[in-house]
Amino acid sequence: MPDVTKEQVLAELKRIAAPDGRGNIVGAGLVSEIAIQGGQVMFALNADPQHIKSMEQLQVFVQKAVSAMPGVTKAIVALTAERAPPREPGPKVSSAQNLRNGIPGVKHLIAVASGKGGVGKSTTAINLALALKSIGLKVAVLDADVYGPSMPKLFGISGRPEASDAEGKRMKPMQRFGVEVASIGFLVDEDTAMIWRGPMVMSALTQLLREVSWSDTDVMVIDMPPGTGDSQLTIAQQTPLSGAVIVSTPQDLALLDARKGINMFKKVNVPLLGIIENMSYFICDGCGKRHEIFSHGGAKAEAIKLGVPFLGEIPLDLELRQRSDSGEPIVVSQPDSPHTATYIAIAKQIWAALEGGSGLKPAPKIIFEA
Ligand code: ADP
Repeated sequence: MPDVTKEQVLAELKRIAAPDGRGNIVGAGLVSEIAIQGGQVMFALNADPQHIKSMEQLQVFVQKAVSAMPGVTKAIVALTAERAPPREPGPKVSSAQNLRNGIPGVKHLIAVASGKGGVGKSTTAINLALALKSIGLKVAVLDADVYGPSMPKLFGISGRPEASDAEGKRMKPMQRFGVEVASIGFLVDEDTAMIWRGPMVMSALTQLLREVSWSDTDVMVIDMPPGTGDSQLTIAQQTPLSGAVIVSTPQDLALLDARKGINMFKKVNVPLLGIIENMSYFICDGCGKRHEIFSHGGAKAEAIKLGVPFLGEIPLDLELRQRSDSGEPIVVSQPDSPHTATYIAIAKQIWAALEGGSGLKPAPKIIFEA
């Protein structure tokens, strides 16, 4: 089938009415330049920030209409508002991946990040998500740790996601404990060796964000890849995050790494929701005494020094590990434990910051450059 042409797309768009009775969307000047690459069609709709809700509905409608045209393999319709101030140049991402206009129906995206691997970032991300759920919020988890996706194991979910439309272009999120989850781990075999470069990571993530039929969500928790390399910076820069949480162990070394994580988000103007100290101390099974094996308190001191909120500390706990690793996260398997109480207290602080806007800036406006 021949690829669709710009004229054909324009003709289709002229059949769609503008929201306020100003004729069709092309005539009303809502449609940007149209870029076509093969069967991929990309363009933007100029949104008045006052009417963003109705524009979001229009965006979904327009995207469906263009996707259904013969010769179209994929349509990407972005919502634009006025141009954002120039940002620091980051890793280059193609315009198709530069989707900054949020995920329809998702109120807040928050990143859970760490300066290095093995500090308990994923364990924290899942328990935090479940704690947000337990305070009555609609929650989703996006496993962005494409190098070592752990959400399938932590949620105890196996199998592949089902398609959510007849053409198989979109998929349903997986679900457990009342939380929706998507992970590259559901799509590729665990033992498939994958080498991911920055732009590939973003393109995989864009798919998980955009091509999964997420329900309405208050908070989507993104489990970031560990570290502060190019891929992480790209995600921090290209995803419309409401804020970021840094997980750190108390060791100085980890803290140095954690500082890199903080700086990365600062650099791209993502507000820091705070630091969580994980494996903070150890309560001995035998004697019940609290042992501070890693000079506990380092994260708190560091947080104060950096002016970033300190959200709480989670001890090193073997039960927490066992439950986590067997797909029964502690927040649901031991709802009355002190650790669960800590996760819930952290969740409440985060939600208050997200909704209260303390120090938070609104989600960045999208710029679309075809
Ligand atoms: P990361 O995402 O930072 O690589 P994970 O969340 O995968 O780290 O955790 C690494 C390992 O440490 C896992 O086996 C996990 O169960 C364990 N773990 C994480 N947090 C704790 C904790 N507070 N107490 C005991 N074990 C923990």
